[in-house]
Amino acid sequence: MNLATDRANLWHPYASAVKPPPVLDAATADGAWIVLDDGTRLIDGISSWWCAAYGHACPTVVQAIREQAAKLPHVMFAGLTHEPAIRLAERLNLVMPRGLNRYFYADSGSIAVECAMKMAIQYQAATGHPGRRRIAVLKGGYHGDTVGAMSVSDPGGMHRIFRGLLPEQFFADRPSCRFDAPWDEASFAPMESLLEEHAGEIAAVIAEPVFQGANAMWFYHPEYLRKLREACDRHGVLLIFDEIATGFGRTGRTFASDYAGVLPDIMTVGKALTAGSVSLAVAAASDRVAEPIDVFLHGPTFMANPIACAAAAASVELFLSRDWGAETARIERRLKTALAPCRACPNVKDVRVLGAVGVLEVERIPDPETTRKIALETGVWLRPYDRFVYTMPPFITDDAGIDRIAEAMRALADAV
Ligand SMILES: *Cc1c(COP(=O)(O)O)cnc(C)c1O
Repeated sequence: MNLATDRANLWHPYASAVKPPPVLDAATADGAWIVLDDGTRLIDGISSWWCAAYGHACPTVVQAIREQAAKLPHVMFAGLTHEPAIRLAERLNLVMPRGLNRYFYADSGSIAVECAMKMAIQYQAATGHPGRRRIAVLKGGYHGDTVGAMSVSDPGGMHRIFRGLLPEQFFADRPSCRFDAPWDEASFAPMESLLEEHAGEIAAVIAEPVFQGANAMWFYHPEYLRKLREACDRHGVLLIFDEIATGFGRTGRTFASDYAGVLPDIMTVGKALTAGSVSLAVAAASDRVAEPIDVFLHGPTFMANPIACAAAAASVELFLSRDWGAETARIERRLKTALAPCRACPNVKDVRVLGAVGVLEVERIPDPETTRKIALETGVWLRPYDRFVYTMPPFITDDAGIDRIAEAMRALADAV
């Protein structure tokens, strides 16, 4: 592999093009493993940004991609439809919450979030509320990197730099009540007062249910979502759940919102939707949202790409065929035991586990070079960032693999 070309020409995520951080060269991946060019095998402790939920290169998904690529790799979706798009809708009907069955296929998670927000705004305009054009959000949220999605993500550093480009939204303090603590009514107060004050300008609330991922790695109380549903109904505001990270079993339920038994008006799914193979996401709306929208104003070139739809249909079948409930419960138990001793590490402020997600909140993370060294020493691929050393392993990772991941997390926490 010519890494000089990589350094000379390629931009990596959240990195400098001219002073790039170190990279490892992946040659193949199968099951829970990433295999480097020199044959080194690393457990993918974060499922390649949480998408390879059942491991890499699942044979049925690869086969579906191969067959579809040979038959019909792509065709435009305006005025035409195709079998993989329909097959995927039939599979989604088996897993999506009943009542959220109007599917818009989007190219990525961020685009699905853009679509969800556009649906909300078109719905409000069509039902006589053209003034409801903004979105209310929770601080600590993450919904993607496109402009609209950034505008509803935590107002950290990025918002200052992109001021002027980003539409201004309404932010409420994040839910303070922990997932497993007794419910604290005060935790909903910031959102309640925000809605009371500004409902007339708000089209929808968007939230990652129960688990705030990328920007907070925080599990909050499901009761918050029941309060949120009630408040949205009271104020004529739509509710969007972003289940892109949490969908398909990651937190131990099919959807994290199942912990609350709350149905949103629009839900986004992505990431594990194609079992980590190709990019596809869905914005799923209820009939109530879809009916008043005369013409939905979105239609990307590669909408409903047949290869992506075939991959997603095969992935949903895989999800349905697995005992993922037992797998995530086993991983949760194992992570809780294996990470408990980390509470004693001086650099560790908090240890949190739910389903197949394990988080060490730390004072400081190691530098990229140390992280790379620890990956090679422990044989575990992890990517600490901000104040988090975390794992979201493939569900197929066995107990020995989980223990090894926990050891690598501890090594990363201890390395500063
Ligand atoms: C990853 C993520 C997104 C963005 O998805 P992309 O496919 O990276 O655009 C949106 N919302 C949540 C909750 C995510 O975790």
